[in-house]
Amino acid sequence: MGGGPGARGSCQIGGNIATNAGGNRVIRYGMMRDQVLGLEAVLADGTVVSSLNKMQKNNAGYDVRQLFIGSEGTLGVITRAVLRLAPLPCATQTALCALDTYDDVVRLLRHAQRKLSGRLSAFEVMWADFYGLVTTRVPGVRAPLRAGHPFYVLLDLQGNDGAQDTPVFEGMLESAMEAGLIQDAAVASSHKEAQSFWQLRDAVAEFPVMWSPNAAYDVSLPIGRIGEFAETLRARLLAVWPHAEPVNFGHVGDSNLHVSVYLPGATDQDFPEHEISDVMYGVVQEFRGSVSAEHGIGFHKKPYLHCSRTPEELALMRLLKRSLDPHNILSPGRVFDLA
Ligand SMILES: Cc1cc2nc3c(=O)[nH]c(=O)nc-3n(C[C@H](O)[C@H](O)[C@H](O)COP(=O)(O)OP(=O)(O)OC[C@H]3O[C@@H](n4cnc5c(N)ncnc54)[C@H](O)[C@@H]3O)c2cc1C
Repeated sequence: MGGGPGARGSCQIGGNIATNAGGNRVIRYGMMRDQVLGLEAVLADGTVVSSLNKMQKNNAGYDVRQLFIGSEGTLGVITRAVLRLAPLPCATQTALCALDTYDDVVRLLRHAQRKLSGRLSAFEVMWADFYGLVTTRVPGVRAPLRAGHPFYVLLDLQGNDGAQDTPVFEGMLESAMEAGLIQDAAVASSHKEAQSFWQLRDAVAEFPVMWSPNAAYDVSLPIGRIGEFAETLRARLLAVWPHAEPVNFGHVGDSNLHVSVYLPGATDQDFPEHEISDVMYGVVQEFRGSVSAEHGIGFHKKPYLHCSRTPEELALMRLLKRSLDPHNILSPGRVFDLA
């Protein structure tokens, strides 16, 4: 149920900024980029660039901090930061809903955003295959709603007054049901029950153990087209590997889809990860999506960066890198090659 990135507990602020990490609450608070007001960074030649801005509004020239946020350590070492803080909400309402179509998922998102007046704090979507898998295969995960619905949405409202928030949240669900957007719903009646709903989504941490080898992807797409993307991808994968089992889930409220692809019978030695990636990123490119929603490019996704960045964007990135780090000493080889 936590709002921070998966590495909360071990990560550091500099790492969070360098990776522009997100979490389950991006729909409410934005990514790390949205929390940083100012920062200090040390360049490759030792220059300390102090840009410790504390104002929300500052249009005095280029926004230097943005160079370093999400740069994966390639442009400078972040040594200090000014963060924008939000009050910790003290009341959370959580529900799990079952829906018939992806169009209904999008309509529920818009409906919840309207009715909850900016307090929608998570909108996680699980496709039927994901829900079926985690509720039958992951020990300790229970199914609050019966399996077999095409889509499940885990959503919550975070606010400061449970007595006022509860009727607003339940009213939003009731009107969604009356409008035919939701087929079934379970509202968590306690913190413990809300945690058990989140266990469904967090069960993804078990995938590498129970479902290996698999290829895991983190892409983003225009929200309205994610359903069509998932169908297209499934058809393309099954055309090549008829027994492939792709499962879909993600922070769809933030346009983020995660896909895990498993091939029954494949071993670590013959698992065709590159071929699967070629299919995946080819479809992402067709849908004008991004090959990385939140996990960055690193070394692994370098060959696919061009699928979601134009040649001009790539040339500008290389120009920046060469200007700030001419000897390529900062995180060399990450994001793109210079040659
Ligand atoms: C690119 C990327 C994006 C990620 N996005 C998400 C996400 O959206 N949601 C989520 O739950 N998890 C995400 N993760 C996983 C995890 O949350 C992040 O790795 C974590 O926030 C990084 O913090 P860390 O202190 O552990 O950094 P590390 O793992 O130590 O470093 C990660 C990267 O940041 C660079 N770096 C670290 N500190 C600094 C610094 N002070 N100055 C400059 N560069 C630095 C490193 O060179 C390295 O490239 C992401 C991981 C990566 C690599």
